[in-house]
Amino acid sequence: MEREKLRELAALIYPTRCPVCGEVIGANDCFCGKCTDILVRYEGSLGVKGSAGGAAAYEYHPNMSEAVMLMKRGVMGNAPFAFGTAIAERLREKGFDKADLLIPVPMFKRDLRRRGANQSLLIAEEVGRRLGIPVDGKSVVKSVETLPQKELRRAEREVNMQGAFTVTAPEAVKGKTIIVIDDLCTTGSTLAEMTAVLLGAGAAKVYCACACRAVEHTDERENENG
Ligand SMILES: [Zn+2]
Repeated sequence: MEREKLRELAALIYPTRCPVCGEVIGANDCFCGKCTDILVRYEGSLGVKGSAGGAAAYEYHPNMSEAVMLMKRGVMGNAPFAFGTAIAERLREKGFDKADLLIPVPMFKRDLRRRGANQSLLIAEEVGRRLGIPVDGKSVVKSVETLPQKELRRAEREVNMQGAFTVTAPEAVKGKTIIVIDDLCTTGSTLAEMTAVLLGAGAAKVYCACACRAVEHTDERENENG
């Protein structure tokens, strides 16, 4: 209740906007009515290698490219609130809401400095508020600078992410059930690598969740073994 009031006050100065189209919306709304109608719930399980299960809030739609681009550029607006709320709902529906820890996919230090904020961390904080699960944005770091995933084919993406993450505090994840939070997921290579390093560090179980799941193109699948 307290937080809703705060959002109402903040909206008097900075109106809350729909993260997809930019339309002014209610202080505690996630998306405008029109975009809510267009958004497609993602019903699949993500299928991330090594994970105990997964959930995505929405199927990625070209209409959302603006929202995702803004998040990537560090302009957050209402996106973490809207996507975090939707991810929390989806995790609850699937019964994956009893984890010990939420860990956002970390960014490489230089990228973080350039963008100003890690969008996955902000989304994770919203999910954490909704589910009452603590967020750990420190125990896993991105220790290697990788090429932008969107420029690579599936097989290249896996290689690109190998060794990219390091668990700096294994005692924080050992024996824990963890949900890894990401913004956009395409092939799942990033989430698979996060899952592998967390399990390698002794995590009991790893679930994966993301805001938008982009559906792969056939040509990427054909290159799966290449
Ligand atoms: Zn909208």
